Amino acid sequence: MRKQEGLMLGKRSPQRGMFEADHVYLDFVGRDSFYGFLATERGNLFRDEDFGPLYCPDNGRNSVPPSLLATALLLQAHDRASDDEAKARADFDMRWKVALGIRMDERPFAKSTLQLFRAQLILHDRIRAIFQRSLEYAQETGYLQGRKMKVVLDTTPILGRGAVKDTYNLLADGIKKLIWALAKNAAGTPPEVWARRQGLGRRYYGSSVKGEAEIDWSDEKARAEFLKSIVADADRLLETARQMLQQVPVASNQEKAILEAAQLLAQLLLQDVERPEDPGPRVPGGGDLRLKQGVARDRIVSVHDPEMRHGHKSASKRFEGHKAAVAVDPDSQLFTAVDMLSANAPDAEDALELVEASEANTGIQVEETIADCAYGDGTTREIFEQAGRSLVARVAHRPNQGQFTKEAFQIDLEAGTCACPAGKVTREMISASSHKDRNGRTIVGRAFQFEAVMCEGCSLRQACTRAGSGQGREVRIHPQEHLLQAARDLQASPEFHEYRKKRQAAEHRIGRLIQLGVRKSRYFGQTKTLCQVMLAATVANLTLTATKMKKMRSRTGVHDLASFLSSLLRQANEALLTTLRSRRHSPVQFPALFCPPRPAFRLSF
Ligand code: SF4
Repeated sequence: MRKQEGLMLGKRSPQRGMFEADHVYLDFVGRDSFYGFLATERGNLFRDEDFGPLYCPDNGRNSVPPSLLATALLLQAHDRASDDEAKARADFDMRWKVALGIRMDERPFAKSTLQLFRAQLILHDRIRAIFQRSLEYAQETGYLQGRKMKVVLDTTPILGRGAVKDTYNLLADGIKKLIWALAKNAAGTPPEVWARRQGLGRRYYGSSVKGEAEIDWSDEKARAEFLKSIVADADRLLETARQMLQQVPVASNQEKAILEAAQLLAQLLLQDVERPEDPGPRVPGGGDLRLKQGVARDRIVSVHDPEMRHGHKSASKRFEGHKAAVAVDPDSQLFTAVDMLSANAPDAEDALELVEASEANTGIQVEETIADCAYGDGTTREIFEQAGRSLVARVAHRPNQGQFTKEAFQIDLEAGTCACPAGKVTREMISASSHKDRNGRTIVGRAFQFEAVMCEGCSLRQACTRAGSGQGREVRIHPQEHLLQAARDLQASPEFHEYRKKRQAAEHRIGRLIQLGVRKSRYFGQTKTLCQVMLAATVANLTLTATKMKKMRSRTGVHDLASFLSSLLRQANEALLTTLRSRRHSPVQFPALFCPPRPAFRLSF
């Protein structure tokens, strides 16, 4: 394990000073605010010893107490503050000083200290421990109870931090990244100078390689020539990288940086450029080198964050970034597990892992998992069945294109029969086309076949099948048909309404995460984005627990009632003044009934 070099674990003194902000200004900031909650509970939440493995045991100067930095990370997530802003608030914001328990004239940490601490937490997977602490706290306070629970699964898009560019600029970014890695190896030559020496010119160091290109973009030939010149530069650079790799020490940082940048550029070329030697059909007149048509599967969309992908919020709405997957206990509304997926991954990709993580994080057995139809495919149901777990998810509606869907047929898998809407029954089973499931397994298809003679004279034929003459209706059998049948039966029953209501828990809690700013990633890469979402989920869990256990005021309820009453009084005051002013000759001057509240300063020891 790599520890912070030159730093020993610094601990908060158990002896508290008279002038620490939480002693003096706790009531002023608000005992029932999140800052007041942290001021009173931070000692219960984090102990410096818990972070001991991140520091040298016997060498170096004392670190900033990690419990203080962990509290600062929660404040940062709560206030949606950048690292700069977090540093400034810790220095000058009374609320932060109260929450951190420091003196008013204290500057508790440098920006780089906070960043390094977060990096260490990510490196050693300790962010998860902070998240787990929020669940332990809910159990300690008695808010999260029980030996069994249900969890609701859902996902939400996260817009990536990396710049998304068109193919020309994407290739140019890839070239610049490789130039940077190669120039660094060449005795620290500035990349621009190194590129000029290699004859790569200045075009990669402008604002946009495409925007600055003086070509006629309506001319296909000119576009092809421009692309050709960029690809030629990329190929030449890759060849230089190959030669340089033979000179750098094996397994060194230099080798790693060059390999990473070269692989990225090669991947960009592969996904977006079609060369004459590539197999497959070519568009007539398309030139000898051109941009690929369509979007490659798993296409990299940003050089700055190569883990970002194209994803879909819906059939028509696209986004670029990642996807957060969450598990929520619908009874307590607490997040029980959080994970990060590629934006183009199926929602159900890590469904079972989320359920297992929920159990590990809470120590409570998950008896049932509830999710939407994105989790209702046969493969996910099979995975859950094999793991001995219960999954309740709606089976997606099938587009029927004007014909009877499979649901109109009575399929009896045990008896091996299929009855059609006209009351005819078939036992004939045929092989249908096979396909690969999302785990790459080849699934051989089967189908019930109604004989042509059955269907030919049928009055329902028009509504049933488009098969040509001499053919009857075919009804495909899903490899996990028995599981889908059971799910369809449940979703047709009144009990399913309760599951539908419980499923909304995840949607509401995702709304809270969005409030805490997770819709946009602050960082590059999935790992750091997961850190951001996990800290937001920790804050969401803590504020919920604190509110329910009356350690914090509700953001709704009392607050809303107070603002409603205040607005009612304001309206009454305005109406009264308007009436009085309308009596032009009235000699009496009436004062305003209600004045805006003045800030009050209270000392409390
Ligand atoms: S067309 Fe064939 S399968 Fe369809 S309802 Fe008529 S008999 Fe049944």
